[in-house]
Amino acid sequence: MISQKLCKVGILSLGCPRNLVDSESILGRLNLKGYPIVDLEQADVAIVNTCAFIEDAKKESIGALLDLIALKKEGRLKKIIVYGCLAQRYKYTLAREFPEIDAFIGKVSFPASVSTMQAGSRLLSKIDWRENHNGRFPLTPSHFTYLKICEGCVNHCSYCVIPRIKGRFASLEMDSVLEKAEKFNRDKVSEINIIGQDISGYGLDLYKKPRLTELLRKIVKVADNVPWIRLLYLYPSRVSDELIELIKDEPRICRYIDLPLQHINDRILKLMRRSSAKKDILKLVDKIRKKIPAVAIRTAFIVGFPSETEAEFRELLGFIRDARLERLGAFIYSREEGTEAFSFKQQLPDKVKAERFGAVMSAQQEISRAINKNFLGKTLEVLIDACENGTYLGRSQYDAPEVDGLVYVHPVRKDDCKEAKFSNGVNSKNKLKPGDLVKVKITDTLEYDLVGESL
Ligand code: SF4
Repeated sequence: MISQKLCKVGILSLGCPRNLVDSESILGRLNLKGYPIVDLEQADVAIVNTCAFIEDAKKESIGALLDLIALKKEGRLKKIIVYGCLAQRYKYTLAREFPEIDAFIGKVSFPASVSTMQAGSRLLSKIDWRENHNGRFPLTPSHFTYLKICEGCVNHCSYCVIPRIKGRFASLEMDSVLEKAEKFNRDKVSEINIIGQDISGYGLDLYKKPRLTELLRKIVKVADNVPWIRLLYLYPSRVSDELIELIKDEPRICRYIDLPLQHINDRILKLMRRSSAKKDILKLVDKIRKKIPAVAIRTAFIVGFPSETEAEFRELLGFIRDARLERLGAFIYSREEGTEAFSFKQQLPDKVKAERFGAVMSAQQEISRAINKNFLGKTLEVLIDACENGTYLGRSQYDAPEVDGLVYVHPVRKDDCKEAKFSNGVNSKNKLKPGDLVKVKITDTLEYDLVGESL
């Protein structure tokens, strides 16, 4: 039996920023209860917050479990707790397959204390991600953060398991969101990234109507010191004119629209159970571009969806070439049991899916290179994230953390930037610190990144 006070806890947070927020919340609670939070290498108890929405993510999660089991067999770990989407989806199979693992916790609830878990304490069910506590243990660098305003999803795309894993759509009470935004404001963060599975559905459960725009206006007010507020994961058919107007008018909201479109062909969109048709998407993209000058649109597409013909794929590729979206991610269709599309006929061969993925990524590479060229000689506001090898790493408002490009900023004087750890480690001698916003003149452009000098 591990004495409660001594047990050091470490976490490996896999998957999306929503998972990261859950991991911060778990560590925050344990820390409040006196458990020291350490790097995984020093931990007695390892928690893995897993991801399971597509095949690759499942493989990564299983790989992490096997690594930790090896550490436990070497006596370097005492307990392993598997949390999150993989546990939610495969709790019983995993429990059978991995007897070395001490607990599988699926839903967003977690034991108040590691040791009571063995006693099967009822504490397990009490905790909920929406519960407001100040014990968040940040896992992002201190200058940017994620604010999760809702979980689960109201949409039921035919290829997606998330609604099954995350359960019914749940918004965080507006007051709780604002309390968190206020805390981030007091913490002087430079960037708040607002997240959910589909933030445009915010409020549909609690208030019976979407209230994202209203919430955003209030966040802008309470977070009056925060220079950048970014929206991630908007569902196309719920992007309102009001929201577009607010992004256009409020300078502290990043001109960055994250709009997963998934496809453009009407037959495929219908099979995907997406609620926007091609004409709606074209109209929306056109409206956003007209209303918000110099906006960056990020999107994601699925290639190789069951029965997708060569012609339908060509239509998608044609749209990508015409629309010239600034940021694009592509996924190879992953056949997931428990989804409607799992039983669709004409599942495509992996070779065809991989070829289509390659075609989309190389088309986007050309587009991104050309778009970046337009920044040559221009001055951009850049948020400094780190300093590495004598160069600052930063992002413009057109780059979300961890998914988009970087701006490499050469310091005015070479020794202005000495090595500093990525996260909260700061080298006080450096002229610029993580979280600083600086004007940068772009002197060179790459496929996805920019290079410049701080002014
Ligand atoms: S919008 Fe569709 S793809 Fe996105 S989480 Fe919801 S169901 Fe999944």
